[in-house]
This record gives sequence, structure tokens and C-alpha cells, in this order.
Amino acid sequence: VNQQVERLWELQQVMTELGDREKRLSTKPESFAEVDREYQASAAEKTKLTQQVEQLAKERRRVEGELSDQQELQKKYQGQLMQVKNQQQYAAAWKEIDATRKHVKDLEESVLKTMTEIDGFQQQHDARVSSDGDLQTRWNAAHKAWQSSLGDLKKEAAKLRTRAADIEKTLAEPLRREFHRIFTMRQGQAVVKVENDSCTGCRNRVRPQVAQQLKRGDVVKCEACSRILYLEKPSS
Ligand SMILES: [Zn+2]
Repeated sequence: VNQQVERLWELQQVMTELGDREKRLSTKPESFAEVDREYQASAAEKTKLTQQVEQLAKERRRVEGELSDQQELQKKYQGQLMQVKNQQQYAAAWKEIDATRKHVKDLEESVLKTMTEIDGFQQQHDARVSSDGDLQTRWNAAHKAWQSSLGDLKKEAAKLRTRAADIEKTLAEPLRREFHRIFTMRQGQAVVKVENDSCTGCRNRVRPQVAQQLKRGDVVKCEACSRILYLEKPSS
């Protein structure tokens, strides 16, 4: 029986346990998940309101630009009014002035409307920010409670990590790397036991010649699924 493979088997057990602890460490308990959902939703809402304010501010700048152009135009026509030579020119200039005046009025109303909308969204945003103080406090408390409940689990995980590192130190580098490659590819099953002359990973029979190599203590992979085969010491 190959000792390196025995160590790999042990490493795999340790890594499996570690994976379990890590999963439990990262799973939010409902007591925290509930307030966290509320917290995330509020953050998303604030972002949305900020975007709406920015969008409208952009629109306001655009309309103000147009308004200032129209005001210039209006001045120009008023200047022309002073220089008209006859009744026809006078009427034409007035017509232009009237049109721009109307346009200016519309644009001014549009600016006011946009400003009112901006105020509305800004107020909603600010109201949310001030009420979020309480939400932040609840989030912090729930997060802290969750984290402190993980003390034992964290200790276990740390021990397992140390154990895994200790085992890895005793392994030949190419084998260690090969193990990790298969471990990742085969969802945590890099080493599999051979039982009744079959690979327990894929249920395929191990050829007699391969079984012989195993008994000799060679590192052998299953010919069907490429996992490292582990032949347990016969229990005497
Ligand atoms: Zn196999």
C-alpha cells in the first residue's frame, strides 16, 4: 500500500470537512439574511433615486441652455424692433418676438417642473438616508451576532487548514498538484477506494494487472475515471 496515497486519502477527508465548515461559515442565518435583504433593498433604492436626480439635473441643464439661447434671440429681435422702417417690418419683428416669448415661457415652465421633480426625488432619498440609521444599527447587530456565533466553527476550520497544510508538506510536489487538479475537476473526489476489485468512483472493474500494481504500492489511476485509486490495508 502506497503511503503517499494514504496521505492523499487523509488529505481528502480533511479537505471535505473543511469545505463543509467553510460552507457553514458563509451561509447567512435567516436572522441576518432578513435584515440584510432589507439593507440591500434600501441601498438599491437609494442608488435608483440618486440616478433619477442625476438624470433630471442633466435634463435641467439642457433646457437651461436652450432657454438662454432663446433669451438671446428675444433680445436680438427686440433690437431689430428699434430699427424697423415700416409697418410690415414692425409686424414681422413682433411676430418673431411673440414666438420666442412663448418659447421662453415654455422652457421656463419646463425648468421649474424639472426642479420640482428633482426636489421630490431628493427628498425621498434624504428621508431614506435618515431612516437608514436605524437599519444600519440593526444590520450591524445582526451581523455581529452571526459572526460571534461562528467562533467554534472558525476554530475548527483553522485546525483543519493546519492539518491539510501539514499533510501537504509530506507529499511529493507532482502528486500534490495532480491531487488538487483532480480534486477540483471531480468535485472533491480525487482519491477513491477500490472495493471488490472495482473503482468506487465510477464502478468500473479494475483490471488484474492494475490491481497488481496497486498491491505493489504504485500510484495508480482508474483507467475509466482517472481518479487516484486507494487500496485499503487489508484488515487483519
Ligand atoms: Zn474509476
